[in-house]
Amino acid sequence: MLTVGVTGGVGSGKTTVSKMFEEEGAYLIDADQIGRELIQPRSPAWKELLRVFGRTILQKNGTIDRSQLANLVFTNRRKRRLLNDILHPRIRREMMKKAREIARKDPQAIIIFDVPLLVETGFHREMDRVVVVTSKETQQIRRLKKRAGLKEEEARRILSSQWDIEKKVKVADFVIPNEGSLKQTRTCVREVFQELKNLLVRKNERSSVLSNPFKKVKPLRFSKA
Ligand code: ATP
Repeated sequence: MLTVGVTGGVGSGKTTVSKMFEEEGAYLIDADQIGRELIQPRSPAWKELLRVFGRTILQKNGTIDRSQLANLVFTNRRKRRLLNDILHPRIRREMMKKAREIARKDPQAIIIFDVPLLVETGFHREMDRVVVVTSKETQQIRRLKKRAGLKEEEARRILSSQWDIEKKVKVADFVIPNEGSLKQTRTCVREVFQELKNLLVRKNERSSVLSNPFKKVKPLRFSKA
C-alpha cells in the first residue's frame, strides 16, 4: 500500500485531481464524504455536535445543517477549534480504517486521501507522499462563486481565511498546477501516478529486505524530493 494525501486551497481542483488519480487506477478516500457520513442522525459525532452547538444546527428532518454550522464557526476561532476537535480525529480514524480494508484486499493499492485540511491538521505526516494542487487566486474565486453561488467578496473572505498555499507547497512531494486545461492537468497527474507506482515498487523491495532477518543488507531509503 502507498498512501498519498492530496490537498490544496479551496476551489483549487483537489477533487478533480483526486478523481483523475482514481481513473488512472488509484483508490480514492474523500474526507468530505466521510465527514458527511460521520454526522448522520444519532451517530456519536452527531450527538457530540448537538451537545456542543445546540439544536439550532439541526434541520427539520434531524440532519445537521452543514452550511449553518460552517457559518457559526467561520468567525469564531474557539468554536472552529471545538468543531475540528470533534470531527477531525474521527475522520482521520475512519479514513485509515478504510485504507487498511482496501490494502487487505489489494496490497498493491495506491490510496489517494482527498483532504482539504491535510497539512493544517498534521495528517500529512501519516502519508507516504503528499500532493499539493495549486491554482491562481482568480480561478479559485471564479470556481467558488460558481459552485456555492457566492458573491465576489464572500469568496475572497473565504480564501483569505485559509492558509497560505506556500505553507502547503513546502511539505509537498509533488505539486500539480491546475491552472490550465483539464487535459494539461491530466498529463501532470499521469506523470505523478507513474512516479507513485515506481515508489510502490521500491517500498515493496524495502519491506522484502526487512522481512529477511538473515540478509545483512541495508534497507533502501528514499528521501522526499
Ligand atoms: P473545494 O475546495 O470547494 O472542495 P476543490 O479544490 O475540490 O474544491 P474541484 O471541486 O475539483 O475543486 O473544482 C472546482 C470546480 O472547478 C469544479 O466544478 C471543477 O469541475 C472545476 N475545475 C477544476 N479544475 C478545472 C480546470 N482545470 N478547468 C476547468 N474547470 C476546472
